[in-house]
Amino acid sequence: MTSSKRSPDFLKAAGDLFMKRGFRLLVYVSIAGILFPSARLILLISVLVALAVFFYREREKYGKSYLTYIGGFVIFLIVGYFAALVDVHRVNELRFPLSTIGDGIERVADGTYTGVGQGFRGPIEVEVKVHNHRIVSIKTLEYQDLISVLDNEIGEFKRTVLETGKLVRPAQPGLFRGATQTLTGYFDAVQAALNKGVADYPVYGFFSRVFLGAFIGKAPDRVTLNALAILFAAFMVFEYTLQSMLVPGTGRSINCYNCATCVGACPIKEAEGIQFPMGLVLLTRLGDYDRVLELSKYCVGCGRCAAKCPIGNSGPLVISAAFQASRARHRNAESSGGSERLS
Ligand code: SF4
Ligand code: SF4
Repeated sequence: MTSSKRSPDFLKAAGDLFMKRGFRLLVYVSIAGILFPSARLILLISVLVALAVFFYREREKYGKSYLTYIGGFVIFLIVGYFAALVDVHRVNELRFPLSTIGDGIERVADGTYTGVGQGFRGPIEVEVKVHNHRIVSIKTLEYQDLISVLDNEIGEFKRTVLETGKLVRPAQPGLFRGATQTLTGYFDAVQAALNKGVADYPVYGFFSRVFLGAFIGKAPDRVTLNALAILFAAFMVFEYTLQSMLVPGTGRSINCYNCATCVGACPIKEAEGIQFPMGLVLLTRLGDYDRVLELSKYCVGCGRCAAKCPIGNSGPLVISAAFQASRARHRNAESSGGSERLS
């Protein structure tokens, strides 16, 4: 009995939550964080800055406790980051005498190992086979950089390594853009693979592993940043389309192409710096229904804009939608026992 009563309440609460733009943005950011772990720190900082600005502006309403939580989390991130750096430094010091470069190949047990390095455009992964303490083969498993670098500079590096059976530092490839980073990434990948064959090779502590894995992973590369920019644009288009679909009567605002025909027809034309009624349509698209209601007092309801707009927008249409959205907001606020914003 209790569960059947709770179920509709839960669905209503989930529906109300989904109506809030802040919550939806949090969902998008979480999806991006899952898709691109290396961008998590950037995303986290963006969210924290946005939250800090929001709670600072609304401090009269929410008090200062949320700002304190956000500040505490930022301090945790900074302290955690430096603690992880200290651990990384400590482990690197321990690893130094166990280097697998040159004659260090003697420390590597026979076997096949994989390793990852950071190239110019993305990660490079290799598989290295060691037999009788000699490198006998190197296979490239993942590579996103220029094929010409793979064929020339990396090809030469591999030939040298296989001839000597040891990992040797590659010669600098000259001024060719990005080739140095690609070659360094390839070298790092081979070294990371060989390190796995060294007994008792020092590893980072639990906290550093969890912290770096959760918040940083590795430095975001060019592919990640480009993908994030595309994803951000897609999310914004989706968000504004979704919002106009979720709020009754605002669907057409998304189609406004700023032709200003309605402004030409309107006897008001401008109020408080907003072009009438085109500005109301754009505010509706952004979800700022409170501002639309504030400006609605200037509309005389003559209907001229409705007759002129090629896609059927009008001042009265968006004002009526904003009014209904505002009423829904107040109903939600009353049922939850406090005041709330719709978006
Ligand atoms: S209905 Fe309102 S917004 Fe439309 S033309 Fe008349 S005064 Fe302007
Ligand atoms: S006439 Fe319609 S499409 Fe043109 S600016 Fe006004 S609301 Fe937008």
